[in-house]
Amino acid sequence: MSSLQNKVVFLTGGASGIGMSCALAYIQAGAQVAVMDRDASALDLLIHQLGENHLGFVGDVQHGPDVEKAIDGALDRFGRLDVVHNNAGIANPSKPLHATTEDEWDALFSTNLKSVFWTTRYSLEALKQTKGCILNTSSLVGEIGQVNHAGYVATKGGMNALTKAMALDYAPFGIRVNAICPAGVWTPMLRTWAAQQPNPATIETYLDDIHALGYCPEGDVIADTAVFLVSDAARFMTGCILPVSGGAELGYGRKS
Ligand code: NAD
Repeated sequence: MSSLQNKVVFLTGGASGIGMSCALAYIQAGAQVAVMDRDASALDLLIHQLGENHLGFVGDVQHGPDVEKAIDGALDRFGRLDVVHNNAGIANPSKPLHATTEDEWDALFSTNLKSVFWTTRYSLEALKQTKGCILNTSSLVGEIGQVNHAGYVATKGGMNALTKAMALDYAPFGIRVNAICPAGVWTPMLRTWAAQQPNPATIETYLDDIHALGYCPEGDVIADTAVFLVSDAARFMTGCILPVSGGAELGYGRKS
């Protein structure tokens, strides 16, 4: 049921971390994948690894024309679109809201949130044809908050709200919209955050402990859930804000 045979996935931010794990898992499940990322050299390496059945588009998800070009390119090559996975995201350096610069705030919102507006605008007609689905990589912090990351938290809370609103708007077309909420996942983004903390030496233990299951995972755990959510196995799920967090949101009295 989790097969993605004959499906085409458009994935943003797939050249690193969680997105790269998702690209590999989608292909493993039988999909053809078009990856859009602003990091040209990382994308080049990935597409070389994936092979010629898959496509890479260098572009910035903040910019509508880049997104339109990439989605049109995927449609030209594959002739259909079944899944749009909005995964590209950034976090600003750890600091409280009042110390966040206007440029940092704007970049957070245009990368993490406005990008969903662009991909939806340019993919919707194609998704209507296939009764496809949209998956948003959000974050648990959008639900529970996080110290010193107010702007990032607001983008992910916004993404969760947007997921529900889009699920309602597009359900009449048979299009499902869901969000996946990791807590901590070892990726370049998390390593950057870890290096900024007051005690980087103890951060690995801290990150293991915030997950009730006792370890901080790699991207494969998110990718396995993503494959399920975009497959027909999840055909009656829409508007879900799904934690894939090892229980990080649980546990009054738990060690952390
Ligand atoms: P990452 O930094 O390893 O990868 C992000 C990718 O997105 C990179 O390839 C980057 O080049 C690309 N990207 C960033 N801005 C872009 C833009 N404007 N246009 C095109 N591409 C862009 O990060 P990650 O940890 O894999 O994060 C992926 C998603 O998961 C993000 O949305 C992040 O907020 C979310 N997330 C991550 C964690 C975690 O602990 N790693 C936890 C919760 C949520």
